[in-house]
Formats: sequence, C-alpha cells, structure tokens
Amino acid sequence: MLTGVQVLLIGGDARQLEVIRRLSELNASLTVSGFDGLRTLPGDISNSELREELFDKADAVILPAVGTDDAGLIPAAFSDSELLLTDGMFSRIPKYGTVYAGMARPYLKELCQKHGIALVELFERDDVAILNSIPTAEGAVKMAIEHTDITLHGSACMVLGLGRTGLTLVRTLLALGAQVYAGVHRPEHYARAAEMGAKPFYTRDLQDYAANIDLLFNTIPTMIVTAQMIAGMPSRAVIIDLASKPGGTDFRFAEKRGLKAILAPGLPGIVAPVTAGRIIADCVTQLILDDISTRGNEQ
Ligand code: NAP
Repeated sequence: MLTGVQVLLIGGDARQLEVIRRLSELNASLTVSGFDGLRTLPGDISNSELREELFDKADAVILPAVGTDDAGLIPAAFSDSELLLTDGMFSRIPKYGTVYAGMARPYLKELCQKHGIALVELFERDDVAILNSIPTAEGAVKMAIEHTDITLHGSACMVLGLGRTGLTLVRTLLALGAQVYAGVHRPEHYARAAEMGAKPFYTRDLQDYAANIDLLFNTIPTMIVTAQMIAGMPSRAVIIDLASKPGGTDFRFAEKRGLKAILAPGLPGIVAPVTAGRIIADCVTQLILDDISTRGNEQ
C-alpha cells in the first residue's frame, strides 16, 4: 500500500486515469492537476489548480508520457489551463522526491539536475518498452489494414530494426501470415529473425530488398528509408514509420513519388489507452513502493 505517500500527478491523457485509479486503490495521498475538464475522476479525487505549494512534501511527481514540451508546458488532454512547470515549483520538491515521466526533454532534465531531483524516464526501461510494444504492434497492424487494400496475410512486409518494438511487430505480422523481411545490423538479430521464421537481411543491403515490398514498418530512429530506397519501392507500397519524431523516412520524397508514407507516433496511447495506462501504472507504483521501502531501510 502507499498509505501516507504524497503523490502529485499533473496532466496527460486517458492513460493517466489508469495511474490515478491504481494510486487511489493503493491509498496514496494523491493530488492531481490538469483534469478540470472531467466531471469525475477515479477514486473521487478532485482536481487542484497547479501552484507551487502542491510540490511541498511530494514523494513522487508524475508527469505525462511526453513530460513537458521544450518550454516546460505539460500537455493535458482534459484541461484548457496552461500547465507550466517552473523553477519555483521544482525548488519546493523535497530532495528525496522523484519525478516520473514517459520521456524527458532537456527542459525537464535540466530542472531535475539543477535541483538534485531524481528523474525516471519510464519509456527507456526495457520492461515498459517491451510491454508497450504490444499496443504499438497492434496499432501498426490497424494502420496497415486501414491504408492498404490487400490482406496482411500473404503480403510482403519489411520491418526495419529488431529491437523491442520491431521484434514484437515481426512476431505479430508472422502470426497473421505475412512474409516478413527483417532489416537488422547485428548478427544476433539476424539469427533471431531467422529463428522466428522471418527473412533476415542486413540494412546495408536495404535497397536490394525494396522492389517487392507491400508494407514497410520502420522502427529505426535515424534516416534509413532514404530517397534512394523509396525510388526502388513499388508505388503501391505503404510506409508506416513508428520511430520517434521525425522518424526515419524521407517523407518529402515519398510524397513526391506518390507513395503513402505515414509517421505514426504514440500508438499505445491512441489505440489502447487503458492497456497503455495500466503498463505505466504498474511500473510507476512498483517504483514508488521500492523507493519508499529503500528509504525506510536507510533510516
Ligand atoms: P530499440 O529497442 O532501441 O530498437 C531499435 C532497434 O533498431 C535496435 O535494435 C537497434 O540496434 C536497431 N538499429 C539501429 N540502427 C539500425 C540500422 N542502421 N540497421 C538495423 N538496425 C538498426 O527501440 P524500441 O523501443 O524498439 O523503439 C524504436 C523506436 O520506436 C523509437 O524511436 C521509439 O521511440 C519508437 N516507438 C514508437 C512507438 C509508436 O507508437 N510509434 C511506440 C514505442 C516506441 P542497436 O541496439 O544495435 O542500436
């Protein structure tokens, strides 16, 4: 249980409602801000206006998936108020407090560093990234179905990058009966792709595999689907780029060539906010519990 643990949760989308639900089930002393557009909140919590005093005594400050923007604004799907995270707020977080966010931009990292506050970027953790790969793969399949007029079964799919997202996507596409070409750069990933029944190739040879692809899914967050690659692809092909913004595709050239190319960020929060919220809730509550118990043992 989290009885007596002070948690401040600010902004976010439907995923954070699952986090609120879990924290109130665990009896945390929970304050939330950025939900004034909702009539009711899980656990009958009421919304508070964002102000510096809320940060006093906070054991944990929970921010949304993207943390803040480059100017410190916290996105909030359920509020029209401007939620700005300021230096003054950070100066009031106790030194034992921890800030949790899906990911952190330099603004948030610098504030944490300046005030000596621990920062956890949840999406960098393998457990969260692997579990998030499930709604991501399902979202990618949904997009593929919506943007093609063929079945995935029997189609020629290419997945670039066999990391946490790529691996799950390859497995999902194979289960749907697609032929899957997996672009890798490590021999162990080549071996894994072969073991799974995919057709592995090294991305240095990417262009050799371009000609017969129906769907290309990219998970590599650097420019990899270049103009040269796109020029070799059939015009029926659809590119779904899952890598973080700006993706790894030359979108301008794809458009010029008349090829459908879509940057698809944030799929877990779009296609399965409840599941994605539970993934965050499970991880963040466990981390708070671990933190409190470590602190208790040190006292
Ligand atoms: P990851 O585990 O690091 O996977 C990326 C993989 O690409 C790694 O195995 C990496 O190998 C490999 N790679 C890098 N350069 C390569 C190259 N030139 N040729 C072949 N393979 C290469 O990351 P992830 O968690 O799967 O996430 C991948 C991307 O998707 C990230 O940008 C992430 O932010 C994004 N993402 C998007 C969504 C969404 O909804 N769209 C959801 C989750 C994640 P090395 O390990 O050797 O570098």
